[in-house]
Amino acid sequence: MALERTLSIIKPDAVAKNVVGEIYSRFEKAGLKVAAARMKHLSRAEAEGFYAVHRERPFFNALVEFMISGPVMIQVLQGEGAVLKNRELMGATNPKDAAAGTIRADFADSIDANAVHGSDSLENAAIEVAYFFPATDVYTR
Ligand code: UDP
Repeated sequence: MALERTLSIIKPDAVAKNVVGEIYSRFEKAGLKVAAARMKHLSRAEAEGFYAVHRERPFFNALVEFMISGPVMIQVLQGEGAVLKNRELMGATNPKDAAAGTIRADFADSIDANAVHGSDSLENAAIEVAYFFPATDVYTR
């Protein structure tokens, strides 16, 4: 497996629940290293731009409203097979379908307030990392 980087966002619901540290602990225990991080209250334009691929989906406006409802914690995770590893830690999009012990099973309330975002491919990871972090702010760990 190759060393990869992926973009992770701890969404407003999980930040409000004060479980940022618990979620970081899961990344670390799985061998993922934090290579960049920042807390940010996204503007509407930033959230719309980030989720532009979903613009035509019926849930787009609600998703944007949710993502700007409070600050989020944004991080780049680095490690062997980081994209898939993070997706496995997150669990299914709908917490009702998420496997026991995953972040969404433990901390998410609904399909829209679902605690975390994670890039779904290596190609999207590169785009999403660059959306939030200049290359000089991402550290090799
Ligand atoms: N989402 C939603 N309703 C849906 C499907 C998705 O609110 O019916 C939101 C949810 O927050 C999800 C995000 O849109 O995390 C992006 O959807 P995607 O299918 O890419 O899921 P993910 O990659 O986050 O598991």
